[in-house]
Amino acid sequence: MDNNFASSIDSKHRHPRSLALRSLVLLLGFGCAASLLLGSCAHPRILPLTGWLPKSSLSVSISRTTSHWKAPDDTHVWNLTLVNPWNPLPEDHSISLKQVESGQAVDQRCAEALQAMMDDCRAADLSPLICSSYRTQETQQSLYDAQVNDFLSQGYSREEAESMAATIVALPGTSEHQLGLAVDIVDQNYQILESSQEDTPVQRWLMEHCWEYGFILRYPEEKSDLTGIIYEPWHYRYVGVEAAKVITQAGICLEEYVGATAKAVPDSFS
Ligand SMILES: [Zn+2]
Repeated sequence: MDNNFASSIDSKHRHPRSLALRSLVLLLGFGCAASLLLGSCAHPRILPLTGWLPKSSLSVSISRTTSHWKAPDDTHVWNLTLVNPWNPLPEDHSISLKQVESGQAVDQRCAEALQAMMDDCRAADLSPLICSSYRTQETQQSLYDAQVNDFLSQGYSREEAESMAATIVALPGTSEHQLGLAVDIVDQNYQILESSQEDTPVQRWLMEHCWEYGFILRYPEEKSDLTGIIYEPWHYRYVGVEAAKVITQAGICLEEYVGATAKAVPDSFS
């Protein structure tokens, strides 16, 4: 890890602007990284600064019409709640959890759809595994604090430790997992949370069919500048079938669908 940070510092001197952008995306990303501590799937603790955006793209079998899609009549509905680095979890957010398989729990309103998706994926002779689901504020905070303490113990200043920790564990209050509508699903035969997860049979099936159950691949690689999160071919978010179909067919992200891109995109990305 030290070598990674050392190369990070070296790279900063060589390419300060490029690295700044990458670092910002990294800083805002890693919504799922706490899975390393919570579940059975593993996330690289530090992503390499080169090649962090894979070239392959989301593949879906349904047709895409990127220029024509109908915006939702009402974005203030529970299934379209936007949580990202610029839109923290609503203060009045409450949740009714329902246990699903593997000791995981989600908002009860999407539990049935999630289970149906998992069952049908298995019916296709595949082996999906939910490795992270709902997280409390306390859980997210403890994960973040543990990571900060880890860096402090290595001799970093608090400012450095907090900054670096945020690149690994999402800041409490900005993780979509706290909504209860997001799950990380991996292939049991390949449980590493990295871009190559997209090549597993489970992800290929999920990317093609998840919208049928109301889920979207929340962080496509080509939308990182809008979502603030790096490409995560394992993080699925429930938005309802109607929204999921439009989002998938149009090749847009949730920020675009709910019209929050102008608010969501900071100056450094524009
Ligand atoms: Zn996730």
